[in-house]
Amino acid sequence: MTHDSDISSLRQRLGRSEPLLWLNPDLAPATEALAGQDITWAEVEAAAAAFRRWRPALQRLFPDLPGGGVESPLQPLPEAAAVLGHAPLGDVWLKRDDALPVAGSVKARGGFHEVLRFAEALAARHGLTGEAALASPAARALFATHTVAVGSTGNLGLGIGTVAAALGFRAVVHMSRDAKPWKKARLRAAGAEVVEHAGDYAAAVAAGRRLAAESETTYFVDDENSRPLFLGYAAAAIHLAGQLAAAGIAVDAAHPLVVHLPCGVGGAPCGIAFGLKHVFGDAVHCVLAEPVAAPCMLARLALGPGVTVYDLGLDNRTAADGLAVPQASELAWAATHRLVSGAYTVPDEALFRWVERADALAGLRLEPSAVAGFAGPAWIEAGEAGRRYLAGVRPTHLLWCTGGSLVPEAEHAANLARGGRGAAPHPALELSA
Ligand SMILES: *Cc1c(COP(=O)(O)O)cnc(C)c1O
Repeated sequence: MTHDSDISSLRQRLGRSEPLLWLNPDLAPATEALAGQDITWAEVEAAAAAFRRWRPALQRLFPDLPGGGVESPLQPLPEAAAVLGHAPLGDVWLKRDDALPVAGSVKARGGFHEVLRFAEALAARHGLTGEAALASPAARALFATHTVAVGSTGNLGLGIGTVAAALGFRAVVHMSRDAKPWKKARLRAAGAEVVEHAGDYAAAVAAGRRLAAESETTYFVDDENSRPLFLGYAAAAIHLAGQLAAAGIAVDAAHPLVVHLPCGVGGAPCGIAFGLKHVFGDAVHCVLAEPVAAPCMLARLALGPGVTVYDLGLDNRTAADGLAVPQASELAWAATHRLVSGAYTVPDEALFRWVERADALAGLRLEPSAVAGFAGPAWIEAGEAGRRYLAGVRPTHLLWCTGGSLVPEAEHAANLARGGRGAAPHPALELSA
């Protein structure tokens, strides 16, 4: 995509909501792309160490958090061919962040990390350290005089609001119009205040940022530009490396691992990709999955800065509420624009179909955002560009399932009904046919 005509053709295809795979011409060797980065590996290790340190406090705050650990299972998907509608060359594994306790999504990683970091620092400024820092009556009294605020399409608010309220903070979540009613209701039940905005995700973030700037006791989690969020996601790579080793999954030049990451603003998928590139270097290939209505990171990577999905003629309306973001995070882009292998776009009908297939064939309860990466193995293996990229090597695929365990029964049933109606053809298979 280095020629002007290629760029303008890509722009048009994105604007037509055409499902497509884009491979990154700026992909560089990992050591080269990681050298001199502003965000360091030491910070990622510190985030992982912080999660270990917080285990006792988290266990006390959330009895259903096993051992206080914010981690999820890695499991095989032997039914991959039937679920995906494409028989992959190698094994397919799932990273079950949908099963992350308390928040029910990948947001637990970044969100808990940022809120707990802030809480710990605030407590230390008031002489509260060690065990007393996070879950003591003195800490609660201190946190009650402070507000933690965030702007969200739903899941980040759910993660941040729940943990902030549990610690004793006043929690204020600015929700965009995409946010599902059940997510708002659940947050209110957890003790958070929900402020509803008529605008999109970017507008909700901007409103929250503005209000927070007026208050000295308000801490704003800025999803469009947050280092602590990014680090919380990146830390996932350390635990995953241990899970892969324990499962006997080799990751090296002869056994590449292709990781499929649903992408909204970019913090979660790019943070995870950043961590994985540090651990596995060029043996890991990170690919982003976005809705056809909101390919904001693909636009940032391929078309340059300042392009919103509205500029492409798209409306940012998608059932994948976790991915309904008009403009990508610059922080996430800067850290990973030479590390991610590419991105593909997925229509909503395909998302519903995979939600239904995953439930019927593998017993999974996933939300539409969480199955965006299910498009990936076919893009990489059946499409011409993907095959050229693989160059004859048989990869293991890891589908990052980013959320869903908290979806209410009725909502999930409605998703299943939409997915069961008519079989939408797989975009990659259709286009490469
Ligand atoms: C937020 C979210 C993502 C993407 O994370 P970003 O940091 O916005 O890119 C993916 N899946 C689900 C379910 C999410 O809630």
